[in-house]
Amino acid sequence: MSFFDYHDGILHAEQVPLPEIADAVGTPAHVYSAGVLRHTAEGFTAALRHLQSARFAFAVKANPNTAVLRLLAKCGYGADIVSGGELRRALDAGMAPTEIVFSGVGKTDRELIDALDAGIGQFNLELEEEGRVLARLAQSRGVRAGAVLRVNPDIDGGTHAKISTGKRENKFGVAIAEAPDIFDRLASLDGLDLHGIALHIGSQLGDLGPLEAAYRRVGELVFELRARGHTITRVDLGGGLGIPYRAGDTMPSFADYAAMVSRVTEQWNTRLTFEPGRVIAGLAGVLMTRVIWVKPGVMYPFVIVDAAMNDLARPALYDAYHRFTAVAPNGETMVANIAGPVCETGDTFGMAQTIDRVGRGDLAVFHATGAYGAAMASSYNCRPLSPQVLVDGDTFTVVGDRILPTELAA
Ligand code: PLP
Repeated sequence: MSFFDYHDGILHAEQVPLPEIADAVGTPAHVYSAGVLRHTAEGFTAALRHLQSARFAFAVKANPNTAVLRLLAKCGYGADIVSGGELRRALDAGMAPTEIVFSGVGKTDRELIDALDAGIGQFNLELEEEGRVLARLAQSRGVRAGAVLRVNPDIDGGTHAKISTGKRENKFGVAIAEAPDIFDRLASLDGLDLHGIALHIGSQLGDLGPLEAAYRRVGELVFELRARGHTITRVDLGGGLGIPYRAGDTMPSFADYAAMVSRVTEQWNTRLTFEPGRVIAGLAGVLMTRVIWVKPGVMYPFVIVDAAMNDLARPALYDAYHRFTAVAPNGETMVANIAGPVCETGDTFGMAQTIDRVGRGDLAVFHATGAYGAAMASSYNCRPLSPQVLVDGDTFTVVGDRILPTELAA
């Protein structure tokens, strides 16, 4: 189902023509579809709801926009957070504290205290020392912290090295072989209720094989911990499912994923938590931009657009591909390099790409920017943070203002 489609030759977000949004807020602008968010969020929970007391914690890092979080809260999602700022966003969006999971390899004492005071449901411990500090902080406040231990299963998720998190050389989790002894030591601490295990092996995973292998390792650990006398009631299976960025990309369906999870976890008898991010929000957004120049190049012309790496960092960070199409295509194509105005050679969105023919002043979009798009924006080169717009049917709302560098701290 596509909520970004051409009607009468003009690209629409749901029923709103994109030029209308450009007239209202200018460019560049992040445009989200409420319909896509609801469709994917509800599709994901529907596929997995039959599993024993499944919990859904949207990975806020993928899209921390408060309006987006509010919509997802209505679809039954809590939050997977990695900072005090994300805690605030999740609470502001009305997510129940008990449905908030705190991941992250470097939580400060301040962040741990704020999360304890908010009464969040689960801390995902990344190292033994963190468990000791959390237990002390909880005790000093007269509360108990619900927690799970994040393990690193040493599985290659087969994704880009910079978004791989489950190999032993990555910074995340404790080595799975050391987990039983660490669990023994942490489980005896006052102030901590250690309920189980968490894992997350990477993002933009296109193959369920590595995920299944990692889940199986965790399953073995669950039974080993029980054999040692621990009560294991929770496993947090992380996120990671990929989305099709290129036409023709195939990704596991929610049904395939759910079938694999059911098969692997059948005997676990634990509550399962899922932390999807990209797969919920990625296809729900486009970054709308305007062509400033078409500049002659040695091999191909440069289409210089008014969006840049500060609006969408993924191409510069990971050589990621985002499909680029004109808002009002004229039926012709061109081969071009697409670049932003930032003074970095790496501020390119694609080299030697066949795209709709565009010229100065034309509107265009980068597709599938709803996850890790605005979320990663910066004001580099003293550029503004671009506005964010949420479309729902035939109406749109500005859910994030353009923020000028003069409004940010000097
Ligand atoms: N959970 C954790 C611990 C993560 O680090 C991430 C992303 O890196 C996610 C969930 C969300 O991953 P994705 O957006 O690929 O679903």
